[in-house]
Amino acid sequence: MFETLDRVAERLRVGRRFLVIGHIRPDGDDISSVASLVAILRKAGKTAEGCIADRIPDFFLRLSGDGLTRGVEELRSYSHDTSITVDASDLSRIGDAVGLLKGGIPDVTLDHHKTNAGFGMTNFCDPSYAATAMIVYEIGERLVEFDPVLSEMLLLGIATDTGFFRYSSADERVFSYAASLIRHGASITRIAEAVLEHRTLNEIHLHADMFKTLKISADGRLATAHVTAEMIERNGCTEDDTPGLVGQLRSIGGVEVAIMFIEWPRGMAHISLRSKNRVDVSEIALRLGGGGHARAAGCSLSDAKLDELMNDVIADAEGAIASAFSD
Ligand code: 5GP
Ligand code: MN
Repeated sequence: MFETLDRVAERLRVGRRFLVIGHIRPDGDDISSVASLVAILRKAGKTAEGCIADRIPDFFLRLSGDGLTRGVEELRSYSHDTSITVDASDLSRIGDAVGLLKGGIPDVTLDHHKTNAGFGMTNFCDPSYAATAMIVYEIGERLVEFDPVLSEMLLLGIATDTGFFRYSSADERVFSYAASLIRHGASITRIAEAVLEHRTLNEIHLHADMFKTLKISADGRLATAHVTAEMIERNGCTEDDTPGLVGQLRSIGGVEVAIMFIEWPRGMAHISLRSKNRVDVSEIALRLGGGGHARAAGCSLSDAKLDELMNDVIADAEGAIASAFSD
């Protein structure tokens, strides 16, 4: 059951001690949403802590607000009356942070993934929002005045989830909120520099190894590749160096669907799916037990055999491409 944002804001007004939870493999929108919502709640006179049950990517350390998220262990003794998940499309996405929830269910969920069925007590999910940070922006507007630090934290999520304002999700509302945040002191240059301009040589070498596994099929419309744990370790990389890989595949001319298979950590697999215009890759991800958006979806699997998995997923994607281009 989904509520209006006004009802959610009312729910937040009555709470006093908040726990804001993001998802595992956190991306810019997730970190932005956790940090901004914690900042907003504190500014509104509440007690609030943010939790992400995973490593925070280095780029966030270069931006303001990096002290606003903690790990699960640090928050074991923190008592809350209201828990809120952000940018998570199902409960499994919050990882070990589920252990902090009373009764195992969040009080409030805020999200923009089309595969979200609503897993909290009070839910707001609207896929027309390009980023969860835009939902947090609208909550912020209702509760506090924006300052430069908060504005930049919010802009981080909008910028990263729209591929720096170039995906089809970059609509008029995206530019209007971004303009308002810049007016309040956010710097898009600082965000772009922190996120895009710090690739390591190890990461570049991993990308080179990944391209050696590239396969093009479905008349040039499907690009797939993989990295194994051995490739990641050999190049001195970590999971932090893998999110950019799938975008490289999609950027190939004529490719409609890109799929990246990542074995990390050893014995686990993450599948990242992207599309350009026609194929809804969230449906492929859902069939694998994951989820996401029409143009960007994914799935994390434990005990997965990468080679067996790859053939099945490629066949599924080829079928989806054939039906999308049959007319
Ligand atoms: P990525 O491929 O960058 O990890 O994720 C792309 C999109 O798919 C993101 O919006 C992310 O939230 C979603 N996603 C990735 N992995 C999973 C998963 O295991 N479960 C669900 N429900 N969504 C996922
Ligand atoms: Mn998001």
